[in-house]
Amino acid sequence: MSKMKVIITGGSRGIGAACVSAFANLGANVAFIYRSSDDAANSLAEKTGAYAIKADLSDALSATEAVIKAIRYLGGVDVLVNNAGVSSFGLLSDLTTEEYYRVMDTNLTSAVFASKAVLGEMIRNKSGSIINISSMWGEAGSSCEVVYSASKAGMIGFTKALAKELGPSGIRVNCITPGVIDTEMNSCLTKDVLDALAEETPLGRIGKAEEIADSVLWLASDKASFITGQVIGVNGGMVI
Ligand code: NAP
Repeated sequence: MSKMKVIITGGSRGIGAACVSAFANLGANVAFIYRSSDDAANSLAEKTGAYAIKADLSDALSATEAVIKAIRYLGGVDVLVNNAGVSSFGLLSDLTTEEYYRVMDTNLTSAVFASKAVLGEMIRNKSGSIINISSMWGEAGSSCEVVYSASKAGMIGFTKALAKELGPSGIRVNCITPGVIDTEMNSCLTKDVLDALAEETPLGRIGKAEEIADSVLWLASDKASFITGQVIGVNGGMVI
């Protein structure tokens, strides 16, 4: 059987990097796309054998070109993980148009156009799995993270609609909604805030990037062959 061909966006750090390592450990051929963390991307590529592509996914054309480059390198694609994302904190009254488009384009536009770019190949194969990394805030909404929450809610709607559109072609589309996960995205939070978030979580701690990667692996695998259009919360029970 040929090796699974996997593309991961935002693979240089955090959850994306954990996904790159997890798929590579399984023996998959992996390409990942990142924007600016050259050192982290190069050392991950060296360690895992994955192929690193530098591109700004917030631009629809760059996202399309980067995914096409990844497909050419891999010789096809079986799995796309739309993980690249940025956070954004502040009151709606202080929001600028630049910040609005930075968040929406990175978190949602990138996923839409990266998915569009894999369609031809997946439809030809009559199989494939697209996994979108949303957030529990896309389900529950977070005060002072209004645009971030909207972008992540958009990913959930995108997942459900695309699952209906692509199901007849044998392609599954699912969404993971992580809770608070220990990555650089949360490095702006103080220890007190992180402790409070852990306390609010029924399992009493924040999550690890590897725990999201494990769920991604499962959704990509044949063990999840009858699952599509679903939103899987991996959040320690914070949103139920
Ligand atoms: P992270 O540590 O900040 O990593 C973000 C990744 O996205 C990096 O690899 C970054 O690449 C890449 N990226 C950002 N903007 C990009 C762009 N315009 N073009 C290409 N790549 C871009 O974040 P994380 O915590 O792993 O989060 C990963 C995903 O999970 C995000 O979608 C996030 O919203 C979601 N999530 C995270 C949490 C959490 O608590 N951490 C919770 C819920 C959901 P560079 O480093 O090269 O810029």
